[in-house]
Amino acid sequence: MIVEFFGVRGSHSVTGPNFQKFGGNTSCLLLTVAGRRIVLDAGTGLINVAKRVFQAGPPFDATLLLSHYHHDHLAGLSYYGPLFVPSAKYTIAGPRMGGLSLPQVLDAYLAQPFSPFQPDDMAASKTLLTLAERHELWFLRGQAAPVLVDTTEPARPDASELEVRVRTLTGLGHPRNGVMFYRIEHDGRSVVYATDTEGFGGGDQRLVRFAQGADLLIHDAMYTEAKYTGAPVPPQGWGHSTPEMALEIARQAGVKQLCLFHHDPVNDDAAVEKIEAAAQAVWPAAFAAREGLAVTV
Ligand SMILES: [Zn+2]
Ligand SMILES: [Zn+2]
Repeated sequence: MIVEFFGVRGSHSVTGPNFQKFGGNTSCLLLTVAGRRIVLDAGTGLINVAKRVFQAGPPFDATLLLSHYHHDHLAGLSYYGPLFVPSAKYTIAGPRMGGLSLPQVLDAYLAQPFSPFQPDDMAASKTLLTLAERHELWFLRGQAAPVLVDTTEPARPDASELEVRVRTLTGLGHPRNGVMFYRIEHDGRSVVYATDTEGFGGGDQRLVRFAQGADLLIHDAMYTEAKYTGAPVPPQGWGHSTPEMALEIARQAGVKQLCLFHHDPVNDDAAVEKIEAAAQAVWPAAFAAREGLAVTV
């Protein structure tokens, strides 16, 4: 699996000379796994994924997994060219939130007069999957699109055909509707994406189990400890973690590498470098996400 970072910021994008090293786009990752593209979140980084997909030539297909629907995780969606190509085939999956299914969320997000485009303007064929924790997505041999599997039902596709498995967990530490974590598994390797989550005392034990033994854990690390508890308004309860919280999950889950993600837009390159160095002093296998970075798992 190759994990490429196209957007690593939280809350809103930033630009300028002090944001060159880590980048200013909001959450978006591209996983290339067993010949398929899996995109995690649709922040402004998605616009550069579009360039990549067009450069590679047709088919422009991909599966898009959404963690939740805050603007920083959706802002690239309307500007993602491949969704406007009639021949492109897209599976878009995300959690039910605030009582809304994924189609209802997208209708609301792209509603008039806030958006120049409505979902119907996006001519690609789109399969929209509303996820709950009991669901998994299975990519079967020879098939580009995933199958939705309900783990509480006995009927399953043939597991011997399973190439890429995506497991889900509802994270409870993000206002107001939570967040969905994803674990992507292929050929004995695994990547866990757990952004927009605030740590619990002693570590989020559900996440610890979910991330157990992962090769790469991508975890929210938005606030320094000083900011988390500091003046003028401590951001406790805003649904984000400190690097210490992320390190605690990585330690308890026994992951091989930890990626600190969803950087605070007020933290320029020097500030993120400092956060990364402090984390590496505790555990050398930690690193800060930066745009353009590719990690092979
Ligand atoms: Zn966010
Ligand atoms: Zn959020």
